[in-house]
Amino acid sequence: MSVSRLLFFCSIGLATAHIPVQRTIAARDSEKVSRNAPAESSITFSSVHVDGPYIAITFDDGPSATLTPKLLDILAAHRIKATFFVIGENVVEHPEIVARAAREGHEIGNHSWSHPNFGKMSDEGVRGQVQRTDDAIKEATGTRPILLRPPYGSITARQKRWIHDQFGYQIILWDVDPYDWKRPGPSVVRNRILKETQPGSIVLSHDIHPGTIEAMPSTFDALEAKGFRFVTVSELIQAAVPQPPPSPGTHESLPATITPSPSKSIAPSPASSPKG
Ligand SMILES: [Zn+2]
Repeated sequence: MSVSRLLFFCSIGLATAHIPVQRTIAARDSEKVSRNAPAESSITFSSVHVDGPYIAITFDDGPSATLTPKLLDILAAHRIKATFFVIGENVVEHPEIVARAAREGHEIGNHSWSHPNFGKMSDEGVRGQVQRTDDAIKEATGTRPILLRPPYGSITARQKRWIHDQFGYQIILWDVDPYDWKRPGPSVVRNRILKETQPGSIVLSHDIHPGTIEAMPSTFDALEAKGFRFVTVSELIQAAVPQPPPSPGTHESLPATITPSPSKSIAPSPASSPKG
């Protein structure tokens, strides 16, 4: 294990010990947050190392007037808690759907106001996108979110830090991507998720595509049959445990547990990578 990894896992233990699921006023105190100056790797997660069969399934880009209520019914029938990364414009269109999701125990995260590419925007532009959506979620649910997923996963390292400092957000990416936005059909979506999901995974999908919703009952059945247990993203992060060092002579077979701290973030364009 590298020194930076070791430091990360030490810091994540400290960080998670102090971050409640429901963000408090204190967490928005930027002076207090920046004094702790957490490493970027404790701000950003594409998966989490956990000791147990825990996974988080996430649904982006909603709420959808028709599909999100259907999905909420399916989740309720399976007693599964999910995380919704919502678009601010859609939240103000259908605040009652977001309120229902929150009331039924799902986590609501910020996915921007209108789904632009943060990596290509000014700080002021990004700040407006984040703040308006933060306000819309608070208005709909009574609670401010503590998670942000940048559209397309596009965000610079510097943006991550100031968004964390100013809003108290953790930045959530994913390690399982069924490419459901390409609408490949329910069975393909299900099979991709089943093939890639492992303990600690954060699964990306979208509750604005009919095929994704259609895929979910059998996907949930199959994941449950494999022994996986669904938690929200914040719960998954709180369940993080230090990763043991790899045995000598073996390779780490898991995908990158945590997004590394690149000196320069990659900002894919929507055209080349229309996901997230
Ligand atoms: Zn999205």
